Amino acid sequence: MPAAPTVLLSGWGRFPRLDCRVLAPDGPDAARAAIAREASLIAFGNGRAYGDAALNPAATLLMRANAGVEAFDPVTGRLTCRAGTMLADLITAFVPQGWFPPVTPGTRFVTVGGMIAADVHGKNHHGAGSFGAHVDWLDLAVADGRVLRCAPGENAELFAATCGGMGLTGVILRACFAMMPVQTRLIRQETRRASGLAAVMDQFEATQDWPYSVAWIDCLSRGAALGRSVLSLGAHATAAEAPAAPPPRPRARRMAFDLPGFALNRWSVRAFNALYYRAGRPGTTWVDLEPYFYPLDAILEWNRIYGRSGLFQYQCVLPLAASRAGLTALLDRIAASGAGSFLSVLKRFGNAPGPCPGLLSFPMAGYTLALDFRATEANLRLATELDAIVADHEGRLYLAKDARMHPDMLRFYPGLERFRAIRQAIDPTGKFASAQSRRLGL
Ligand SMILES: Cc1cc2nc3c(=O)[nH]c(=O)nc-3n(C[C@H](O)[C@H](O)[C@H](O)COP(=O)(O)OP(=O)(O)OC[C@H]3O[C@@H](n4cnc5c(N)ncnc54)[C@H](O)[C@@H]3O)c2cc1C
Repeated sequence: MPAAPTVLLSGWGRFPRLDCRVLAPDGPDAARAAIAREASLIAFGNGRAYGDAALNPAATLLMRANAGVEAFDPVTGRLTCRAGTMLADLITAFVPQGWFPPVTPGTRFVTVGGMIAADVHGKNHHGAGSFGAHVDWLDLAVADGRVLRCAPGENAELFAATCGGMGLTGVILRACFAMMPVQTRLIRQETRRASGLAAVMDQFEATQDWPYSVAWIDCLSRGAALGRSVLSLGAHATAAEAPAAPPPRPRARRMAFDLPGFALNRWSVRAFNALYYRAGRPGTTWVDLEPYFYPLDAILEWNRIYGRSGLFQYQCVLPLAASRAGLTALLDRIAASGAGSFLSVLKRFGNAPGPCPGLLSFPMAGYTLALDFRATEANLRLATELDAIVADHEGRLYLAKDARMHPDMLRFYPGLERFRAIRQAIDPTGKFASAQSRRLGL
């Protein structure tokens, strides 16, 4: 067994960066051998969680080589793949055959294991729930060397702790889930402008029958324009409605260097936000699914825009009844700070269909707001102030985006104590641990 190299590793935010010993098992057997050998480790998918959830200085298990489709049923759309399989590869292979993932996050550069471990949500949460709701079963390599099949009807408690469990119950080796039939690779997109927060929330409520909805929100506008937004509704285009000439698929470009810190300031962000609001022309168009679902993937390594200090994303969800007051308070505070980000996103979460699978799953019925901030002392202090507003409204923060929250904020996860008990039973020595789990005492 060659010595494991130590490399400087980070999540997507490049904050924090930690020296981690890395192991790269090329399949399930090698992953199990690493689990048997190491006293403390965590799985790393494709590093698209923003913070330190996939980092363990003692041993970080790179799962990308454990990839590949093992079975596909073209009648039901059921797909079995290794956990390191990239969503981007599934989309490339299966969209031409008429299948699309049932839930997708805002980047396709994630692994299936990472999607389950964070129980990711998409723009269709109000109708489809989170990814875990579509998982039939998964194989989990646990601390004592066994591989356990976990499903809603088999090792159900462990299944519930693993969907959204941030890799802390074991290493997901493979999973089976149902893909969704689509007729074309196009999305019918309807764009609407909303002059303020109340208007965009009213529009979200009135458009629940659209499969996909998301609003870009101008986080620096104030007064009557607080929360002005461009709402984007979407549905998979049928073959009958798709235009004869397909819309262009933009080529991805790369951000080749770190922007200097001063390039991102209240003036450049304000100018961008004003421009973006005006550019969001109301109307209906047909767009390729890649720019629709993954607009940021068009600039590879866009995280470098935030400079060498890195960024953190602040993503919270507020219960429906508290959303209007809570969002007003959050946006007021963010606009007053002048910090804020180029792309701030608002989504409406629904009641997940059926029982919510994950004990630590982030979504709840209500509104979720996500903003990127440069990782500076001032912005970290602002985030702590925002936490107090979220806590006052009984909202919670998303672990997949977190790099800095205080452990107190975990109290808004109602499944936390059950999660802890299941983890203690399956992994009494706490073999599976991340920098995040230690920071939060998870
Ligand atoms: C631009 C961008 C947009 C995003 N949009 C969304 C969005 O719309 N909705 C959303 O929900 N999320 C979103 N995310 C977050 C992202 O979907 C999640 O963080 C996801 O978990 C990343 O997957 P990954 O494979 O890169 O996993 P990593 O980031 O490497 O790991 C994330 C967690 O999964 C665990 N993990 C990974 N693989 C395994 C495995 N095989 N077994 C056990 N545990 C494992 C890790 O230990 C870690 O705790 C976005 C991220 C980016 C960068």
